[in-house]
Amino acid sequence: MQSQSKFPRTFSFEFFPPNTPEGQEKLRSTTRQLAQLNPKFFSVTFGAGGSTRDRTLGTVLDIRAMGHAAAPHISCVASTRENIREWLQRYKDEGIKHLVALRGDLPSGLAAAGEFRYANELIEFIREEFGDAFFIEVAAYPEFHPQAKSARDDLLAFKRKVEAGASSAITQYFYNADAYYRFVDECESMALDVPIVPGIMPIARFSQLARFSDACGAEIPRWMRRKLESYGDDAASIRAFGLDVVTALCDDLLRNGAPGLHFYTLNQAGLATTIWQRLGL
Ligand SMILES: Cc1cc2nc3c(=O)[nH]c(=O)nc-3n(C[C@H](O)[C@H](O)[C@H](O)COP(=O)(O)OP(=O)(O)OC[C@H]3O[C@@H](n4cnc5c(N)ncnc54)[C@H](O)[C@@H]3O)c2cc1C
Repeated sequence: MQSQSKFPRTFSFEFFPPNTPEGQEKLRSTTRQLAQLNPKFFSVTFGAGGSTRDRTLGTVLDIRAMGHAAAPHISCVASTRENIREWLQRYKDEGIKHLVALRGDLPSGLAAAGEFRYANELIEFIREEFGDAFFIEVAAYPEFHPQAKSARDDLLAFKRKVEAGASSAITQYFYNADAYYRFVDECESMALDVPIVPGIMPIARFSQLARFSDACGAEIPRWMRRKLESYGDDAASIRAFGLDVVTALCDDLLRNGAPGLHFYTLNQAGLATTIWQRLGL
């Protein structure tokens, strides 16, 4: 973990692009609340295959118009080089200099055709075509990506993204801090010199968290799962327990040198704000 504490701390909040005018208005209010915490940037997700591309860009421009830094995500699955070049050019023309670059996941049932197979190919492409026009964030998986052939292969996949020109990384969320520490140590032993910012998922609803976690391979430790299950529909207890656990996790990460935190907000300000305040940030 030594190498991570040398990087300046970066705090950020992730949104998804709303698909109704009410959702947009609500996101403006969330942005206003979270902006008071003075994050480095907000990021906005991108539907695989380009399904949200206009809304992703629209949301980024909206956040910028409110006076805050915003980074769009871009994913390459099921896209052509031409499509990706066009979207990147659009981002560049809008003055965007910060991206989160991913392979993406297609909804099940759809074939993953496309000219890019893995995110490292996208990063290479961005660097070849656009040089240093963008600061590029990539995804990292302390508990390993669910499709990885092995833990070692997944680390090597991460290494390829860094070598292709990633500037920084944001992790999938996790509740086992040791998985993150080990991942960072292994990156350090491979001389990968980029900040690896922990992704943080506040806990609002157990059923939703369990669904996300099953899909993305983030483990809910048994003791947490059993506690969360025991609260049934008692939303207040789930919230209180989640706040305690996630605040303690963030505190541990920051004390041990994590270079900031990236909150998966699900477009809500409340939990992230409370965690932030409890951390005294
Ligand atoms: C911070 C963050 C933000 C995200 N935002 C979005 C978003 O906006 N939109 C979206 O659709 N998804 C998003 N995701 C989810 C992400 O797209 C999925 O996890 C996706 O399955 C993998 O994307 P990746 O960029 O990590 O892929 P990659 O780094 O390409 O890895 C994908 C898998 O392929 C394996 N792999 C890589 N290279 C090879 C190779 N040469 N041979 C064999 N296997 C290989 C890896 O081990 C891994 O299992 C996000 C995830 C994170 C952590």
